[in-house]
Amino acid sequence: MNNYFIILAAGKSKRFNGKIPKQFSKYKGVATYQHSINKAKESKLFKKIILVINKKHRKFIKDINDKDIKIIYGGPERHVSSLNALKHISKYKPNNVFIHDAARPNFTLRLLKKLNLNIKKYIGVVPYIRPTDTIINNYKNNNYEILQRKNIMFNQTPQCFNFKYLYKYSKINNDIVTDEATLFLKNNSKIKFLKGEENNFKITTLSDLDKLNVKTSFGIGFDIHRLIKNKKLYLGGVKVPFHSGLQGHSDGDVVLHSIIDGLLGATGKKDIGTLFPSNKPKFRNIRSPNMLKSILNIIKKDGYIIKNIDINLICENPKVSKYRQKIILSLVNLLSLDKEQINLKGKTVEKLGLIGKEKAIACEAIVAINRYV
Ligand code: ZN
Repeated sequence: MNNYFIILAAGKSKRFNGKIPKQFSKYKGVATYQHSINKAKESKLFKKIILVINKKHRKFIKDINDKDIKIIYGGPERHVSSLNALKHISKYKPNNVFIHDAARPNFTLRLLKKLNLNIKKYIGVVPYIRPTDTIINNYKNNNYEILQRKNIMFNQTPQCFNFKYLYKYSKINNDIVTDEATLFLKNNSKIKFLKGEENNFKITTLSDLDKLNVKTSFGIGFDIHRLIKNKKLYLGGVKVPFHSGLQGHSDGDVVLHSIIDGLLGATGKKDIGTLFPSNKPKFRNIRSPNMLKSILNIIKKDGYIIKNIDINLICENPKVSKYRQKIILSLVNLLSLDKEQINLKGKTVEKLGLIGKEKAIACEAIVAINRYV
């Protein structure tokens, strides 16, 4: 296997009209281009994944620490970006190369496998679909032609090619082409067209994102633990210097416990005590981040994506404002979210009761989650 996966993400996204280009906007909770990376990796069909971006867009991408993924810069037009990527991989002497538009996050692993199977017999394999709308061509003064839908092909990506041919045709090409299949057609080179996927549409405008059927649900979580001497205090996974720590069979992290209950609430999965019974020795001294991790795995498998979390941390001391950034950063890491999705408020209780006397800390959290159906 010496196959490479090129993701073209250098487009200017002129028609999208969003705050950031479509290929970097979130789709189903994840940056659009990331869906293609994830699927390419999951397929285990590729030696390397090349992500081609516009130099000006570098700020929209987090650093990728993965030796199998390489980011390179594209050109002003798609075919220049594509050629840059082919030049880059030419040193590896690839057999086949898959070229894909980052704005199509919905292709399936099945399609990748089908392309991979067919490229053994052909020098190019391209998925297509037939249109469902009526197509009128060259309408002018009531002169027109109605095109036969059954004769029309809409090419999709990923498209898969024998590297040598594609590289040759790309190097000699000077025209603006909108996909690589066109290069083969122009050179009278026979390729295999196979049935693509209806759902593998290209995100073009901001309203394309509204086509998603989203169900949002909410969950609320509350927790309180006593403060006791000789225990470390953990809040949101952060060790906070304090005269006492929170009592409990775990580390007593009220922030994480409220978030966990919020997540369980939003997904209809009972509560933290049911999942981690305090009378079970195996959960004694369990660190709350580990509890959170196992819950996150469960909800991820069910297709849930966290939208935002709002937290009230209720204590007289320590001062929440002093640790807010640290706690939010810790939650960003633990939950794989962006900073903007988490809000942490500090709340004192006018020195009233157990909390006011610094004998306990409480926390409540509300979680909004999305599920795409
Ligand atoms: Zn607790």
